[in-house]
Amino acid sequence: MRELFEGALRFQEDDYTKYKDLYESLKKHQEPHTLFISCVDSRVVPNLITNTLPGDLFVVRNMGNIIPPYRENDNMMRAGYLATTASIEYALNILGIKNIIICGHSNCGACSAIYHPDERLENTPYVKKWIELLEPVKKKVQALKPTSKSKQIWLTEQINIEQQLENLMTYPFVEERFDRGEINIYGWYYIIETGEIFNYNMITREFKPINREKK
Ligand SMILES: [Zn+2]
Repeated sequence: MRELFEGALRFQEDDYTKYKDLYESLKKHQEPHTLFISCVDSRVVPNLITNTLPGDLFVVRNMGNIIPPYRENDNMMRAGYLATTASIEYALNILGIKNIIICGHSNCGACSAIYHPDERLENTPYVKKWIELLEPVKKKVQALKPTSKSKQIWLTEQINIEQQLENLMTYPFVEERFDRGEINIYGWYYIIETGEIFNYNMITREFKPINREKK
């Protein structure tokens, strides 16, 4: 823990000083350009992997980068899925953000947990309830009959991103703005061990690595 206190001091001495003007300009308001929805996994660090600064990203994180479907609003209220929904609503309707990125990642614990609900989630009823939202993903993966465990996980993580893009479109204020060309929406798949990010192509329904040639 001492490391974190030491880190807070080092931040004030080094990083804060480096971007002092930026921090001062952010004093009264924020104008983030992008809503970044990612997993809570400690290995996924949004500002680091996008090379962005304070004020750039409005970050929403939860287990498995899940977006509860909007159409089940009444059920959502009861189920307590409000945090994610409220943040998306705020980002779009109050902050007027221009881009949305849903960022999944490799070796995602939430994506693998859906295959072991009984053994691993016995003492975590809230986790169990939350990842029930991944049931449609599990069904889609099982229909593809993956031939190995690693392929199953890899497919789950990617189909999850696709599913959450679909869920995002159930939010009327997202769909309307996307249809009018007012916002951009992306699905990203981040590979922890290589640092690579794969971008989802909504037309070909494929993930392609982000590189300098093709954006
Ligand atoms: Zn994860």
